[in-house]
Amino acid sequence: MAAADLFKKLKANAPAIKRTTAEQRIAKLEKLRSAIIQREAAIRAALAKDFSKAGTEVEITEIVPCLVEIKETIGELHHWMKPHRVGTPLSLFGTKSEIRYEPKGVVLIIGPWNYPFQLVIAPLIAAVAAGNVVVIKPSELTDAVAKLTVELIGAVFSPDEVAVVEGDHIVTQELLALPFDHFFFTGSTKVGKIVAEAAAKHLASTTLELGGKSPAIVDETADLELTANRLVWGKFVNAGQTCIAPDYILVHESKQDALVRELGRAIDGMYGSTPDAKKSNTDFARIINKRNYDRLKGLLDDTLKAGAKVAIGGETDAGARYIAPTVVTGVTPDSALMSEEIFGPILPVLTYRQLSEVTDLVTARDKPLALYVFSGNDDHIAEVLGATTAGGTCVNTTTLHFANSNLPFGGVGASGSGNYHGFFGFKAFSHERAVLRQGRIDMVKQLYPPYGPKVAKTLKLMRKLFT
Ligand code: NAD
Repeated sequence: MAAADLFKKLKANAPAIKRTTAEQRIAKLEKLRSAIIQREAAIRAALAKDFSKAGTEVEITEIVPCLVEIKETIGELHHWMKPHRVGTPLSLFGTKSEIRYEPKGVVLIIGPWNYPFQLVIAPLIAAVAAGNVVVIKPSELTDAVAKLTVELIGAVFSPDEVAVVEGDHIVTQELLALPFDHFFFTGSTKVGKIVAEAAAKHLASTTLELGGKSPAIVDETADLELTANRLVWGKFVNAGQTCIAPDYILVHESKQDALVRELGRAIDGMYGSTPDAKKSNTDFARIINKRNYDRLKGLLDDTLKAGAKVAIGGETDAGARYIAPTVVTGVTPDSALMSEEIFGPILPVLTYRQLSEVTDLVTARDKPLALYVFSGNDDHIAEVLGATTAGGTCVNTTTLHFANSNLPFGGVGASGSGNYHGFFGFKAFSHERAVLRQGRIDMVKQLYPPYGPKVAKTLKLMRKLFT
């Protein structure tokens, strides 16, 4: 079906879906949950096919987060959907006010390839909970997951409530030309700008979940063994192809050698102690495609040519699209590896002497999606939090802020705008409608024209009381 016809069909159904009750939406989410559980093996197989992602990692990072999101949404939806009463200023005595959460209407969810299941299903859960009709556009780079998504959605939703449209950027642009009420995009900053421009033409709202370079700061007081384990997990899960992976390390120069030693130990412990053991380890994913492999290899080679050193790893195999977990030292802010989001298993290490060098470097760059700080010193942590901004931050760990749905997940500036997860997701797909009800008592009537001395006196009193 042509995109415009599909849109029309969904739009015609939007008013009916808007009026669904919490019970009806919960029933759909329960159906989605069962359908996901039934297809667990197929989801693992699809991700293995797309980029050799380990089954257990698929469970941890793709399936479980969706099931958690469904459970929390089901548990809270009645409460979220109830009109939220708000206070009344004395000047409006005689009125009552509330916020009603209404669905945005017809929404488009555009997904990336790196967590191709979770990053379309989690927004879908929020969109359905909020009572929208939805078009999903999965990434064309993870074809097996895209096919599975089509089948899954077809089994759970009627085609005029949730539809999946497969295709490349041309198809995405066709969809972007349609007057959706909300565009929810996860992907690169570059394409985020295209989506923002398209949405502006319709005056539609957007949630832009973008990328960027997320720094990890390790000061001289950090526990290096813990720090290394947590950095290695956050960086090399999904072979570094994670939007909130620590992109580069800024370590106090007195601790660089010890940190690199601990990073080596942590990498060996998680992925194998020899280059061969690492390469044959099926827990470690492959690079998504040749273009990204070549890009990463180019960034690494250019950085090494400029004088940096491979401290750990460095083995590559173009045929297998394999890059070993790699740590590079001697990197400077103008190295190739510092010129763009790495999005692969290469971790550059830069050193600093004063904390102010770190905050200056971070604030001079685009606002990151995540910023991590490892420290045993509360003043240092407060200094980093105070001097920088980021979509989200973990102190003494990485990536876990994503997993707490009581926290809004999203970027800031070049790393995105808007957020989701839990109630924030429900809100992202809702319009907050302000409703004020007036009873018989009416203070404002005292200000009606004619604007004579009576009004002037009342106004004077009101200004004294309320301003
Ligand atoms: P991408 O921007 O290349 O693609 C994302 C989607 O946009 C795909 O569905 C693709 O079909 C579509 N697209 C690509 N080019 C387009 C164009 N010219 N016009 C219209 N649509 C187009 O991103 P990607 O490579 O799939 O994902 C990697 C990026 O996503 C990284 O920057 C990463 O940090 C970011 N990301 C962010 C989050 C987050 O939650 N903030 C999560 C995952 C990935």
